[in-house]
Amino acid sequence: MIKKHTDLLEFDQEHLWHPYTSMTNPLPSYLVEHAQGVYLHLASGEQVIDGMSSWWSVVHGYNNPVLNEAIKQQVDKFCHVMFGGLTHKPAIALAEKLIRLTPEGLDKVFLADSGSVAVEVAIKMAIQYQHSKGKANKNKLLTIKNGYHGDTFAAMSVCDPVNGMHQLFSGFITKNYFADAPTIGFDDEFNPNELASIEQQLTNNHENIAALILEPIVQGAGGMKFYHPKFLQGCRTLCDQYEVLLIADEIATGFGRSGKLFACEHANISPDILCLGKALTGGYMTLAATLCTSHVAETISNGEAGVFMHGPTFMANPLACAAANASLDLLIANNWQQQVHAIEQQLKAELLPMSNHRNIADVRVLGAIGVIESKYPVNMAVIQKKFVELGVWIRPFGKLIYIMPPFVITTAELKKLTSAIKAIIDCDQVFNRP
Ligand SMILES: *Cc1c(COP(=O)(O)O)cnc(C)c1O
Repeated sequence: MIKKHTDLLEFDQEHLWHPYTSMTNPLPSYLVEHAQGVYLHLASGEQVIDGMSSWWSVVHGYNNPVLNEAIKQQVDKFCHVMFGGLTHKPAIALAEKLIRLTPEGLDKVFLADSGSVAVEVAIKMAIQYQHSKGKANKNKLLTIKNGYHGDTFAAMSVCDPVNGMHQLFSGFITKNYFADAPTIGFDDEFNPNELASIEQQLTNNHENIAALILEPIVQGAGGMKFYHPKFLQGCRTLCDQYEVLLIADEIATGFGRSGKLFACEHANISPDILCLGKALTGGYMTLAATLCTSHVAETISNGEAGVFMHGPTFMANPLACAAANASLDLLIANNWQQQVHAIEQQLKAELLPMSNHRNIADVRVLGAIGVIESKYPVNMAVIQKKFVELGVWIRPFGKLIYIMPPFVITTAELKKLTSAIKAIIDCDQVFNRP
């Protein structure tokens, strides 16, 4: 049995794949011993403030007594049952909450097991919908560049073709339609030309397009950009005009992160299909959801197959649903609007002044998301170590140093995150400068 933490890490490096890493030249991982509130306690003795919310998800912090209790209570009843022919109270309660909280019109709920699967489900829904309407040729997707929708094949086929390395998988991956990414920022002045590329794609190809899929307002892992609500409104109008469904992927933005409960609310629109994940369970368990309108659900159900063709083994896992129910109640009890607004104000005050720094190209803040875009790609090995030494967990990629902290973070803890970023950008050696 391995005991020493350095031996554990050695075994990890030798045998465990981590997300997007090499098995021959892996960057070191840090061993987490326990976690509490916004803190990760590392086996090496350090404690670091999690600025990432473990990738958008841990909004209420770690080891939260309310979430712990909700799961413990469900453990004593049952941890899982098949969802074919059986149902349970945690799933019913969760569906009721999601229908009530999400934009109007979304009232059929598919509970999936991860974000990527929720996207697969949304894509299958769109294709089955068009097929049921006698439009079997409408079986491709339209999306915008710089998007990220997950790592499974259909999800990959709508990720940015360059970032997603489509070339590498070109023999296998479905070819879809890509419009230019929006360039006008959230607060900038809108110009209707912004929609020209998407309209062009629809004019030329609408007879082959089942749905437009995009991340509303915030393009996450594909570039951390915030675009104008009028772009999203324009997309909604164009989709109706060309009889194309609109799929909103709110897996990252859902549950308050962008300053609205759902980012679609910035534009006052409802999609036909909505994908949720990440913060759904407060980061406790893997769970995702795909919601659609009654019209979409009824059309699918009246089609050739007569049923929706999807059904994973761990669909609507009761433990995950119990965590999600508790997390959604906690979001409201904690007054998430106030939490996110306070984080936004502080991020603006502490990050925006860095925009004139010699190493920095742009700084942007929306809701509880702060992004520093540097002029040069960061050296991951150097910057990760420095951040840990500064007592924070921040994981940049490419030229992006960004934080989306747990909503429960205090002013002093958030100050520690922004101060660490301020200190880091002064170190020229963390950047791969030419
Ligand atoms: C993370 C993410 C996904 C994929 O979710 P997984 O749970 O990692 O499969 C899909 N879409 C968006 C916008 C995401 O941020």
